Amino acid sequence: MSCIFCKIVEGSIPSTKVYENEHVLAFRDIQPAAPVHILIIPKKHIATMNDVEPDDRGLIGDLHIAAQEIAKQEGVFESGYRLINNCGADSGQVVFHIHYHLLAGEKLGALNAK
Ligand code: AMP
Repeated sequence: MSCIFCKIVEGSIPSTKVYENEHVLAFRDIQPAAPVHILIIPKKHIATMNDVEPDDRGLIGDLHIAAQEIAKQEGVFESGYRLINNCGADSGQVVFHIHYHLLAGEKLGALNAK
């Protein structure tokens, strides 16, 4: 298995875990782009959002519920946070195991294309 996030799920690569349940794992990004920068992933390997299937509907919901819980844990539930998914080459996706970036902890800049 060559997927780095699958290795984090199985524990053979270390991570700073902040949340875990049966289907979801979340850990701190190694190159944080904001004071709070957490990656929220399904334990199941799905390469990109384009590979999500109807049976994954509940799993995608689980990622969002996890985001709420993590925002509470991190103290940013009220102040706000941003969830980002990169899908495919033009988005800048570099790890091909779906994940949301949860960014928070400061006033984030406006979204732009670049
Ligand atoms: P993306 O461009 O959306 O695929 O983002 C992948 C993210 O994974 C980047 O922000 C990386 O800093 C992060 N990353 C890569 N390897 C690790 C790792 N071992 N532990 C934590 N974050 C990682």
